[in-house]
Amino acid sequence: METGTEDSEQAKDKESSNKTKCVMNIQGYPVKGLSIAGHETCIIFPSLNIAFDIGRCPHQAIQQDFLCISHAHMDHIGGLPMYVATRGLYRMKPPTIIVPTCIKADVEQLFEVHRRMDQSELKHNLIGLDVGEEFYLRKDLKVRAFQTYHVIPSQGYVVYSVKQKLKQEYIGLPGNEIKNLKLSDYIHCHST
Ligand SMILES: [Zn+2]
Repeated sequence: METGTEDSEQAKDKESSNKTKCVMNIQGYPVKGLSIAGHETCIIFPSLNIAFDIGRCPHQAIQQDFLCISHAHMDHIGGLPMYVATRGLYRMKPPTIIVPTCIKADVEQLFEVHRRMDQSELKHNLIGLDVGEEFYLRKDLKVRAFQTYHVIPSQGYVVYSVKQKLKQEYIGLPGNEIKNLKLSDYIHCHST
């Protein structure tokens, strides 16, 4: 019977990965995912390592280190504990999850309840972001939350690449001298 259980788990995984295997391309960025209103929405940019909303936690989403949640309707956030738990199961690094600040405390509670029930760690890094605020995913990539309009508080996210350029006065300096300068002294950032 146990084999049967495993088979059906594998079948579910396969079904989930089939659902997300259609690849679109937006300006050179492959996009995977699915969006069925009221059921499940999860959009994945594998080359940026980000998922937007988690839906029911499709298989492909588990591999993304960053997750941005737009709002708390179940078809967008329902798979959140599963996403964190599955990454823990596979010993992947704890994900960074960005949520609207107004739901952050409730999301913390949600994880606390699951920890109480199954004594798991559910390690993750939870970030509350307000409209207009930014968060650096890495030093050359950031997200900024923007207002969207829905029946409950919601927000979208813009991803920016951040380019670092040498200040004019440091152009031509040998590499080791540049290295010795404090990062903040010799670079400025701009986003595209
Ligand atoms: Zn909704």
